[in-house]
Amino acid sequence: APIGAFALIFIVFSKQGVKAFGPLLGVTISTYIGFIAHVALIFTLACLAIKISPLKFLNKVKSPMITAFVTRSSGGTLPISMKTADEDMGIPRQIYGFALPVGATVNMNGTIIYLGICAIFIANAVGVQLDMGAKLTIILTAVLAAVGTAGVPGAGAIMLLMVLESVGLKVESGSAVAAAYALILGIDAILDMGRTSLNVGGDMLGAVFVAKNENSLDMSKWE
Ligand code: ASP
Repeated sequence: APIGAFALIFIVFSKQGVKAFGPLLGVTISTYIGFIAHVALIFTLACLAIKISPLKFLNKVKSPMITAFVTRSSGGTLPISMKTADEDMGIPRQIYGFALPVGATVNMNGTIIYLGICAIFIANAVGVQLDMGAKLTIILTAVLAAVGTAGVPGAGAIMLLMVLESVGLKVESGSAVAAAYALILGIDAILDMGRTSLNVGGDMLGAVFVAKNENSLDMSKWE
C-alpha cells in the first residue's frame, strides 16, 4: 500500500512540479499532527476516565490500527477489530458486536480532522478569508459529513466536496477551487491511511468505554 500511495503522489508532482511540494507537505504534516494530538489528548483522557492505562490500550489496539493504515478501510478492518476486542481486550460479544460495526460506519474521528484541515487549506489556496462563522460551519458540516462517510478507501475525499460547498467553495470544472481540490486528491492515499487508522482506534475506544461503564470488561486481560 505505501508503495502504491507514493506512485499516486508521483503523478501529482510530475504534473504540478515541485512548487506543489511545500503546501502539500504542510497539509500532510498538519493533518498528522492533528491525528497525534487527538490520540495524545482524547484517547488518553477517555482511557483515564474509565481507569485503564492509555499505553496498554494503544498496545492492544495496535493490530487493528495498523491494518486500517494499510487497507484504508474501517469496514475491511472490522474482522481484526472484533478479534482484538474479543481476545485481547475482554469486551463482551454483545457490546463489541454492536459498537464496532456501528462505529465503522458512523464514528470517524480521523475523517473529521482531515475534512477541517483540507477545507481550510483549499480556502487559503484560493485566497478566500474564512471568518469565525465560516469556520464554525466547517466544524459542523465536517462532523455531519464524517457521520455519512462510508468506511471504504477515499470516501472522505468525496465528503470534502460537501464541506467546501457549505462555505461557498464550489468545485466547478476549471475553477481554482477544483485545482486545489485535485491537489488534495493526489495525496489522499497518504491522508486516508492515517485517518482510517484513527477512525478504527476511535471505534475500539468507544467499545472499551461502553464495556467498562457497564462493568462487563474482562479486567484479567488488562493486568
Ligand atoms: N477510509 C476511511 C475509513 O474507511 C473513510 C475516509 O475516507 O475518510 O474509515
